[in-house]
Amino acid sequence: MPFTIASGGAARAAAPMMGMGMSKFNRVGLGDFEVTTILAGTMPRPDPHSIFGLNVSAETFETASKAARLPTDVAQFFFTPTVVNTGNELILFDTGLNAESTTAALAEAGYTPDQVDIVVITHMHGDHIGGLMNGDAPTYPNARYVTGSAEFDAWAKMENENFEAKVRPLAEQMTMIGDGDSVATGVTAMAAFGHTPGHMTYMLESNGQQLVVAADFANHYVWSLGYPDWEVKFDMDKAAAAQTRRRILGMLAADGIPFIGYHMPWPGMGYVEAAGDGFRYEPTSYQLMIQAG
Ligand SMILES: [Zn+2]
Repeated sequence: MPFTIASGGAARAAAPMMGMGMSKFNRVGLGDFEVTTILAGTMPRPDPHSIFGLNVSAETFETASKAARLPTDVAQFFFTPTVVNTGNELILFDTGLNAESTTAALAEAGYTPDQVDIVVITHMHGDHIGGLMNGDAPTYPNARYVTGSAEFDAWAKMENENFEAKVRPLAEQMTMIGDGDSVATGVTAMAAFGHTPGHMTYMLESNGQQLVVAADFANHYVWSLGYPDWEVKFDMDKAAAAQTRRRILGMLAADGIPFIGYHMPWPGMGYVEAAGDGFRYEPTSYQLMIQAG
């Protein structure tokens, strides 16, 4: 007698479709530091050529995108703050689009907002300062703040609504720094102007290992790394941004230093290889899971 699976049993529904998913944190080691990227948000964005490659033709944009197997009608955007535990301080680099999403991702990574000792703001676009305040209250009640003085001074003059709502209330507690200044032992500011007037990146160094928290010096893993001179809508000084891109990408490639890009594909961490007239993104695999013994 043939066996039938359904015989005698109630009809079962198929397992439900779950939608796409990913964890909201990714933690690696860097010497004695722990470095955690936090996925504060991700969303599709239509018509990426209206943002990347403003100075190239639709045909050029399409050829470059096709070569990387990327669609040209839509791009997936990622927003990735970084948490560094130096052993002495818990440092949060950038705060996402709003307080809720970032603190939810932080919680998944095992951190509460009151544990954050220092909030570093790399630059003052809305997707980086959006989570500084939670309504009228600071999201990170025990934190002090560090940002670039050039960045603060530029936005303070712009009459920018977001800056006035999120940054101005905390200005008294902010330490303004410049190129080469130190946030904590092993955390050093590096000027990367162009994307915004005072945009800063940060070199992390512990026990001989290095990693750059690179923020927005490059905003797409193909369109910015492969083509550093392509103009980007969000770069306030397009020529300076391109020059900064080439300088930092050149350094990362030459020295083999991994970087975290705020808008790189999740989990946002990769190496840079020279390729043709530009560079290629090489996501990290397990390199930073292995601790020097
Ligand atoms: Zn950004």
